Amino acid sequence: MRPQILFPLFASVGDLPGVGAKTAALVTKLAGPRIADLLWHLPSDVVDRRHRATAATLEAGALATLVVRVDRHLPPARPGQPYRVRCSDATGSLDLVYFRGERDWLGKLLPEGEPRVISGRADVFRESWQMVQPVEVGPLDALSRIAVVEPVYPQTAGLTSRQIARLAGLALDRAPTLPEWLDEAWRARQSWPDWRTAIARAHAPEGPEDLDAAAPWRRRLVFDELLAHQLALALVRQAWQRRPGRKLIGDNRLRDIVLDGLGFSLTVSQAGALAEIDRDLAGETRMLRLLQGDVGSGKTVVALLAMLTAVEAGAQAVLLAPTEILVRQHAETIRRLAAPAGLEPVVLTGRDKGRTRDAILAGIADGSAQVILGTHAVLSEDVAFADLALAVVDEQHRFGVNQRLQIAEKGRAVDILVMSATPIPRTLQMAAYGDLDVSALREKPPGRTPVDTRVVAAPRLDEVLAAVGRRLDEGGKIFWVCPLVEEGDGADLAAATERYEALSRRFGGRVGLLHGRMRAADKERIAAAFAEDGASPDRIDLLVATTVIEVGVDVPAASVMVVEHAERFGLAQLHQLRGRVGRGRTASTCILVYTPPLGGTARRRLKALRESQDGFALAETDLALRGAGDVLGTRQSGLPDLKLADLADHADLLAAASDDARLILARDPGLATPRGQALRVLLYLFERDAAVRYLKSG
Ligand code: ADP
Ligand code: MG
Repeated sequence: MRPQILFPLFASVGDLPGVGAKTAALVTKLAGPRIADLLWHLPSDVVDRRHRATAATLEAGALATLVVRVDRHLPPARPGQPYRVRCSDATGSLDLVYFRGERDWLGKLLPEGEPRVISGRADVFRESWQMVQPVEVGPLDALSRIAVVEPVYPQTAGLTSRQIARLAGLALDRAPTLPEWLDEAWRARQSWPDWRTAIARAHAPEGPEDLDAAAPWRRRLVFDELLAHQLALALVRQAWQRRPGRKLIGDNRLRDIVLDGLGFSLTVSQAGALAEIDRDLAGETRMLRLLQGDVGSGKTVVALLAMLTAVEAGAQAVLLAPTEILVRQHAETIRRLAAPAGLEPVVLTGRDKGRTRDAILAGIADGSAQVILGTHAVLSEDVAFADLALAVVDEQHRFGVNQRLQIAEKGRAVDILVMSATPIPRTLQMAAYGDLDVSALREKPPGRTPVDTRVVAAPRLDEVLAAVGRRLDEGGKIFWVCPLVEEGDGADLAAATERYEALSRRFGGRVGLLHGRMRAADKERIAAAFAEDGASPDRIDLLVATTVIEVGVDVPAASVMVVEHAERFGLAQLHQLRGRVGRGRTASTCILVYTPPLGGTARRRLKALRESQDGFALAETDLALRGAGDVLGTRQSGLPDLKLADLADHADLLAAASDDARLILARDPGLATPRGQALRVLLYLFERDAAVRYLKSG
């Protein structure tokens, strides 16, 4: 239950005095429905009216506040001309210009012979100074009200910045003084104000410097948000670890056979990751570990070996992947590797229906299926396991935390291994998962040749086509990735189809097309034809594809990748795409075709790709370039929807919040001390209600 002290903040905006349904609807659209949402809607800029000027010191285009005497009204001589009011001070004169000024109103606002304070933007017109529609005009005693710093809010049609400022003021009147949840010594060291003061100051900037990410009130508020988030993650984790685990210990009878059959030995990182996983599996607590590594770094092998331990211990293991095509691929790899051990993986996807599906479910339920691979279909309610002990979740960012918990419910004390081929910078990792255990595969298996990456401007597409033709003649296989199109799938498909037709005209029947909206069976047929090496008439050597291949088609023989409109892709995505080539022993090439002109960020992205093939390093670059939390796409990655924090600016605070959260729970796991009680208020303030429930049930 939300603590009573927060009720005023969670009341609806319409409760504020003088706020009607129409305004409430606009605020809801802009910020959210509640008073708290108004408080989090912070100014993004300021207008500084403190700059006092005289007619002699005006600067064109700059804001100025000055005291003048009203000399003479000059109404328009002809319709369509502006109304001018000539003013002056001791140093010169200037005209105030109104395009729709009514004579009566202007006469009262600017009486001739009287002094007035005016504020606005000055300009030169026909060699004399003027100010078009001054923002402020008032008598002398209004100077202290006018010559101030005014916050500028992000706006929406129908709600001006000034109206928002007024509403924010009303919201602040409702903001209670909250118990302090920060460690007092830490707060004192940072010279941070209390929450109420901080939020008030955030709405009343005293200058542009107050909007800076480094301003103390800003940092306090950001830290609050990050602490709420990290504490929530830590609570979930604490609850996870408190549930009894089980010791999974294998006897290596299956593992040894599989390891013998590999034909290669594990890399140092693979062996290291496996040792960490084994330790978790054998331990009393539940495993929750992230296995990170670029495409081709050998995660599947590690996952399989972990699953074999579960099977050796007499239990079942499941591997979840986000797409059918990925599941089939894993199945193929695992079938091949596990065959010598006499183990046959069972596959369950949305495509299995009727009696086939019943038979699969029966095998999962009676335990004859020991290693199960599947899509979301595995999570459906009627899938029951005999004894599920380990779940491997591939490409985790397409699954949510909820699904992770859902699969855990299907077994007894299920250990979870999350695999991600998108290396996430440490900062984001912490933001997304909290203090999760991580094993990273940083080295590639031996024998890989680095991909020669080139950046080519679209006007030189002819040269690219010539090079593609030569590779085809040499028997090469080529990916051709079509541009991301903003307007959605339809346009996406049109672009790919057009390119496919053009390439078919040039290279004949060896060209195929693969896109996201093909039926799964057709996708597989095309993918198989592209993998085809022999003299089959269906064989495809040049595959035109939308980004469906990003998580999919695995053809080690492919040695060239062309990406059109590379400037539209994100860095991580391009790196993922490039991972589709360079998997075999042939030297591979990735040609990133861009359409000029190239913006600064896009240029740096492409340069980074040309210079590095290390997914971890590229992920750091990506974060630095984007400067925001969307390196993976907020929703997909399970990254929190942060209102205030910018992970690029506030990485230090994130680390501090993570440490603090850990320390808090170590000392006060039930949040029962006075500070613990205050922290509960913090969790509710940032709507981490679910985390508090973990506390109760834990
Ligand atoms: P990932 O799942 O990380 O994309 P995979 O596990 O699919 O990578 O491995 C990619 C390829 O590398 C596979 O063909 C696999 O057999 C091979 N491979 C994995 N580990 C090694 C190793 N230690 N030495 C040589 N080849 C390896
Ligand atoms: Mg793999």
